[in-house]
Order: sequence, then structure tokens, then C-alpha cells
Amino acid sequence: MPVGLQAEPSLGVPGKKRWAMVVDLRRCIGCMACVCADKAEYDVPLGVWRTIVKVKDTGHYPNTKRHFMPRLCNHCDNPPCVRNCPTEATYKHEDGFVLQRYERCIACRTCIAACPYNARHVLPKNRDRVKIGGVVDKCTFCSHRVEKGLAPACVQTCLGRSRIFGDLNDPDSEVSKLVARHKTVVLKPEKGTRPQVYYIKPERAQTEQVFAAPQSYAARSDSEAFYKHNRGSKFFSGVL
Ligand code: SF4
Ligand code: SF4
Repeated sequence: MPVGLQAEPSLGVPGKKRWAMVVDLRRCIGCMACVCADKAEYDVPLGVWRTIVKVKDTGHYPNTKRHFMPRLCNHCDNPPCVRNCPTEATYKHEDGFVLQRYERCIACRTCIAACPYNARHVLPKNRDRVKIGGVVDKCTFCSHRVEKGLAPACVQTCLGRSRIFGDLNDPDSEVSKLVARHKTVVLKPEKGTRPQVYYIKPERAQTEQVFAAPQSYAARSDSEAFYKHNRGSKFFSGVL
């Protein structure tokens, strides 16, 4: 069923936007510019990410191939993170964004456990430049930029034009045309979450393979550095 999946009816409010992302895996070159842009946009601390690019090598020398798979919150139409949050800190905006109200978050991590995509993380406490800490965070589809008519930071920075963002309720938008013209897959459709990130190209088996691959090399070394330098730090008690 997943190959050829087309957009399902929105659970959002009629007449509103239905923001979605298409990721064309044929065009991703694994440059990690999107990961860097996102880190810069939100001052995302070492060791956590709002978006990553998974890497998987296949084949045997000299016939090898490297696959890349950008990952982020799917801004699901039926999000289990929202259903399971005991304080309604996380919610589904009528235009499709799944967002966080930091002041309500008690960092109970229920949403992290509920998300089948590992798309959430806990921010460290006592950060240098940003006051928000000790709460759960995730990708916002850059709602603050989108409301001003800008593309999300990762989309604007994407060197391969692999990431495309737009309104699925607008039949003339690029995302609508891409979803209509191409076979697309979403991640873990069997979970019933109705993800709003659509991947072009891969066979389901290949998508799942890369989905299960280790984090990108850049992300891994970032993580290793973070753990090495902060293990035991009082600033990260309860986080590490
Ligand atoms: S990907 Fe995870 S965090 Fe994002 S909306 Fe879906 S369930 Fe929630
Ligand atoms: S910026 Fe675009 S091309 Fe580069 S890794 Fe991210 S998705 Fe792939």
C-alpha cells in the first residue's frame, strides 16, 4: 500500500493550509546543509537534532552506492504525541503544524515514547544563550518563518532541492503537483499516524532500510563529543 500513497483528506480545518514536505530522495546529496541550517536557526545544542540525514551504504566494491534519507518530525495528521501528552503541551495547529507549548511541558517524555519516528528530544537545562531548556523539543516545520511567507530553514538551504515545502490544500503548489505526479512513500504508514512528509523514489524496503540505519556521520561525531564532554555535568542532570 505505501508505494503510490497519495495525500489523504486533511484532519485540519477546511479552508486552512495543510503544510507538508516532499523529500525527493533522488536529489539528496547528503551534504548535511539542512542539518546545519536547522542547528543555526534554533541554536540546537550538541547531541540533539530537529532534523538528521541518515546514511546507508549498499553493494560490494566497486559496485557500491550510498543512500541518504533526511528525517524530521512528520507533522502527522493523527499524531500520537499529541494524544498522549498529559498537559496538552504539544498540539496540532489548524494549519497542520504539530507544535510545542514549552511553558506547559513537564518533560515527562510521554510524547517521546509515543512518537514512532524518534522525532523528539529533551533540551538540556541551563543553556548559554537560549532560555528554553529542560523541556521536550522537536521540528516545527519552521512555523515562525512560514507564517512570514518564508520557507523552512532546511528547505531554503537544501543544495540539492531535495526538500520541498508547501500547502497540500493548494492544487497549484509544488508539493501538490509532486505528490500527484510521483509515487511517494511515508514512514511507517501502518502506525496510522498519517505523516505529512512524503518521500519520492525509493521502494518501501529501501526506505525502511535507510530509516533503520545509524545516524549520519556528522550527527554521530556531534553526539560522541557531546557525551564525552558533558557526562556527569550538573547542567545535564536528568538529560544524560
Ligand atoms: S513524527 Fe512524532 S513528534 Fe512528529 S507529529 Fe508524528 S508522532 Fe508527533
Ligand atoms: S541539504 Fe538537501 S541535499 Fe543536503 S543533505 Fe539536506 S536534504 Fe540532502
